[in-house]
Amino acid sequence: MAENKGVLVIGGGMSGLTAAIETAEAGINAYIVEKNPYLGGRVAQINKYFWKLCPPNCGLEIQFKRIKNNPLMTVYTLAEVQEIKGEGGNFDVTIKVNPRFVNDKCVGCDACAQACPSYRSNDFNFGMDKTKAAYLPFGQAFPFQYIIDSHACSKDCMKPCFEACKYNAIDLDMKPQTINLKVGAVVLATGWNPYDVSKLDILGSGKIKNVITNMMMERLASVDGPTQGKIVRPSDGKEIKNIAFVQCAGSRDENHLPYCSYICCLASLKHAMYVREQYPEAKVQIFYIDIRTPGLYEQRFYWKIKDDPNVIFTKGKVAGIAEDAATKDVIVDVEDVYGGSKIKAKFDMVVLATGMDASGLKVGTAISYTPDGLVDDAALKKGIYVVGTPKSPADVARSVQDATGAALKCIQSVNRR
Ligand SMILES: Cc1cc2nc3c(=O)[nH]c(=O)nc-3n(C[C@H](O)[C@H](O)[C@H](O)COP(=O)(O)OP(=O)(O)OC[C@H]3O[C@@H](n4cnc5c(N)ncnc54)[C@H](O)[C@@H]3O)c2cc1C
Repeated sequence: MAENKGVLVIGGGMSGLTAAIETAEAGINAYIVEKNPYLGGRVAQINKYFWKLCPPNCGLEIQFKRIKNNPLMTVYTLAEVQEIKGEGGNFDVTIKVNPRFVNDKCVGCDACAQACPSYRSNDFNFGMDKTKAAYLPFGQAFPFQYIIDSHACSKDCMKPCFEACKYNAIDLDMKPQTINLKVGAVVLATGWNPYDVSKLDILGSGKIKNVITNMMMERLASVDGPTQGKIVRPSDGKEIKNIAFVQCAGSRDENHLPYCSYICCLASLKHAMYVREQYPEAKVQIFYIDIRTPGLYEQRFYWKIKDDPNVIFTKGKVAGIAEDAATKDVIVDVEDVYGGSKIKAKFDMVVLATGMDASGLKVGTAISYTPDGLVDDAALKKGIYVVGTPKSPADVARSVQDATGAALKCIQSVNRR
């Protein structure tokens, strides 16, 4: 057999983890390059995921264990691929690994964070709270290793984190590193970003405090989120009596994402469950164009939630969202298609069901997009495979299936040579 060159997997979410683990368990070196300081991707930010509605760790922990047990796996966090040269079977890859300023001696004791005097906006919670500049991205982070955000360190900081660490784990002199690898195949498992709400001017452009996105709702409902899992209004911490969900916020719209994001109806149904579990009296209104719950999800979610008398489904595209300046309530303008009238309704809070955006990928090789803005897999170089949501919006199950298929193609491609 020819030299085993290994497989590069860009992105350490569920898809990337699956592709890399399947490859390594077949006896081929797998390298994960993840730009975040942790693995797990968007799934790590979800409160509970369908269809079983278990917390993200029920799937992620098994994957992390498989990584730890496999000597053929190498993980680079805080890393990005700068260049992929060559061709299928013979790629030269350059990776930049940014400094964490905390080394492998870290035991996760939190002493550095307690001593740190500076704060930063918590990107894991979409800016809804702050962390110290020395922080653990979230409670179950893998690797379980703190990080220091050098941009958030104040100028007059006298390195109290360094002095507080008993394990010599803080290294403020760490520099970016360049890694060169030779691999036989590449998997793009870069996932998706929430559609940018600042582009949705009729829906408040992300400026109305009590209008949040569906991913923010996942964090609000999470026990390790900004409110320890209590769903309350961001403006004043008030409990929720009535809440609206606006479907297709930027999806199925030729001015934004022309495609259906597949997951948003399901996510809002799941969020309606979160709200109803916490507030038995709360009213939930879902404004939709079409409710789309593919396959078995129809039975498992839609049918179940449809029977809840406190959840009202109104067919109609939302034409405007405004804030009541005095109360900070949210006023929604919508045409009720079946009722044949225009509605102006007031809510404590509104959730925008924003879709999955895969544009703007930077992976060290040319990427072409379809007219819909998704990655055009047919245009990729031979030996480079794209999986999951960059090709088409998908749930975890479909992403994982696709990643397993890509692993098989990589194994064949590497072994053939
Ligand atoms: C509100 C909401 C709720 C959802 N709830 C569910 C649910 O309950 N059940 C379900 O099955 N699905 C759910 N989904 C869908 C689910 O999030 C996706 O199916 C899943 O995230 C796909 O995993 P992935 O690994 O392909 O992508 P991601 O989770 O996006 O992971 C991609 C990873 O790649 C990294 N990355 C990106 N670019 C680069 C780069 N250039 N270099 C290095 N690393 C990079 C990212 O940092 C990330 O870690 C939900 C989606 C939304 C919007």
